[in-house]
Amino acid sequence: MLLKGFVVGVSLFVLIGCSTSKKVTVVKKVNVPVELPAKDVLTEVEEIAKVEVQKSVDTTVFQAFRELTPEEKIAGQKRMGIYKGADWAAAIHYDLRKPNFVIIHHTAQNSVAQTVRTFQVPHSKVSAHYVIARDGQVIQMLNDYDRAWHAGKSKWGNIDDLNSVSLGIELDNNGKEPFPDAQINSLLVLLDTLKAKYLIPQLNFIGHADIAPMRKDDPSVLFPWKRLAERGFGIWYNEDYLMTPPATFNPIDALKIMGYDMRNQEGAIRAFKRKYIVKEVNGVLTAHDQAVLYDLYRKYF
Ligand SMILES: [Zn+2]
Repeated sequence: MLLKGFVVGVSLFVLIGCSTSKKVTVVKKVNVPVELPAKDVLTEVEEIAKVEVQKSVDTTVFQAFRELTPEEKIAGQKRMGIYKGADWAAAIHYDLRKPNFVIIHHTAQNSVAQTVRTFQVPHSKVSAHYVIARDGQVIQMLNDYDRAWHAGKSKWGNIDDLNSVSLGIELDNNGKEPFPDAQINSLLVLLDTLKAKYLIPQLNFIGHADIAPMRKDDPSVLFPWKRLAERGFGIWYNEDYLMTPPATFNPIDALKIMGYDMRNQEGAIRAFKRKYIVKEVNGVLTAHDQAVLYDLYRKYF
């Protein structure tokens, strides 16, 4: 099915009069026939691009026969990234966008095998980049540069599409059990790597419940956020000394500035307390809770 010596009309642009002076750059559109190389000299990426040329002949017929693969869907999505109202002049300096957040989950399932299966069956429509087993085994299920479907409807600060900016890490845990040391140790090693590789800020290591407080409660109260913060992933407060907040301190504003979606205050407070207070998870901020919040706010925001 691959096209050997397939000749395609490719639109190229010729830049005329490029200079550092204030002359206006003239962009002229011309059609240049380009001969694609034979299969054996093509890279995998070029193969995909070549298939795209074929598909563009009649995509509707192609789609009618079978479900598109994820790669084909992404290729189609990339075609939609071209603004038809513009002329095209390809820049050569670019790479892939990097993830800037890590969202930590617990699976609420009973085994890694069950979670892997969930992320591989067609109907589930959920996925994560990594699954970490109770014994510390780390399984990667998507390339870091791909957009996993783990955050769902969520909000953090002004960001309401967390999937587009984050990596999702699922910890094999039923939601009621402690997280074993082996699992947390593997998580910390993975987070070290991801933080260094993608320059992810300390504040951007957060939990699913932080970004979807009305729908989610993971990771559970048993997750060791303090231990993570000590290693530079997320934040923690000074347990030895808490200042009484000044009268002007507004806890609701502070939670909002931290990133919580305050459209439902009780949900946001619950998420805050699940993470930092742990003992009593409800929608009420006590004087002690406010002092914890003030300490975090003062130190990090
Ligand atoms: Zn989750």
